[in-house]
Amino acid sequence: MERKICPKCNSQNTAYILYGLPIMSGKLRKQIDKGTLVLGGCCVTDNATHHCNDCTHNFKASLD
Ligand SMILES: [Zn+2]
Repeated sequence: MERKICPKCNSQNTAYILYGLPIMSGKLRKQIDKGTLVLGGCCVTDNATHHCNDCTHNFKASLD
């Protein structure tokens, strides 16, 4: 999956936010471990789709 650029700090170290209660598969766990995916619900507000691992900014980006 292509990484989005953080609009705040221009970092590419961003993760896709997955909402809901997903089944924790091995693939999902790997993405979380790599920092390309975070689970919404705990620390995510608004309708953000992506999370920056560097500055913790949550932002909306188009999913394509
Ligand atoms: Zn950032």
